[in-house]
Amino acid sequence: MAYPVILKRLSQHIPVLRRIINERDTLRVERAQLASKLLELTDERDHLQALLQNLSKGNTHSGYCHCCRQNTFFQITGTWLRDEYLCLHCRSIPRQRHLQHILDTRFVGWENLTIHESSPSNDFVARWCQQYSASQYFDGVKSGEWVNGVHCENLECLSFNDNSIDIFITQDVFEHVFHPELAVREIHRVLKPGGAHVFTVPKLSTAERSEPRARLSAGGIDYLKEASYHGNPVGDGKALVTWDYGADFERLIDAWSGLSTSTYAEVNRAIGVDGEFREVFVSRKPL
Ligand SMILES: [Zn+2]
Repeated sequence: MAYPVILKRLSQHIPVLRRIINERDTLRVERAQLASKLLELTDERDHLQALLQNLSKGNTHSGYCHCCRQNTFFQITGTWLRDEYLCLHCRSIPRQRHLQHILDTRFVGWENLTIHESSPSNDFVARWCQQYSASQYFDGVKSGEWVNGVHCENLECLSFNDNSIDIFITQDVFEHVFHPELAVREIHRVLKPGGAHVFTVPKLSTAERSEPRARLSAGGIDYLKEASYHGNPVGDGKALVTWDYGADFERLIDAWSGLSTSTYAEVNRAIGVDGEFREVFVSRKPL
């Protein structure tokens, strides 16, 4: 007979032995819990050591992140801050944090508004908003249709009713639209009076005038400049850049939409906002 079985049987007749065995088992459980806790603390220690190293190098600093809504550390990993200035908690980049900052400060209570976001690549807005919807663009699919559970919308011809959305968000989408003049008109059509289009776009500091890079024609796409692509959360992962926007960007948007666009371009490292293409644009529809 195996030793544990003998011990178990004996303990049924000897109360003091039973208590000792129970005590032993309790200690074993506690030992396992402590070993697990030790692993957690080791991870925590390694994380803090890495953080201290980064802090001593001067490329990491503390601040408040509007994307994950907590005090955090921001890390600069290279000179191109647009992509290399990250929140260590949520991995957001400056333009994303700036857009959330604008929502938090200029649209207080936005979490309860009707918000639509075109082509989101993350859930930074969605995670805080009760009435949030999102869509993606699929070539050849009509607005309002669904493909594999994804709501499709073409910005140039939206399926939404007039005056139905409080805030329409586009983050780095307008440089991929063939007809931005149609897109802004459509967005303003679906906005409620007093609503706003809140958006980011790479506005080139080196360009005076905005120019199309590619045009649609009967034969397909005419490339006016060398084809350039950005990442795309859907399709083949590539989105053709159709426009280079320059210094006249807001004037163009206003001329196309008939509205007035405000530009927010502050540098504020306390909230992790600095670097290239951090601008947030807001076009408001009058009440
Ligand atoms: Zn964050």
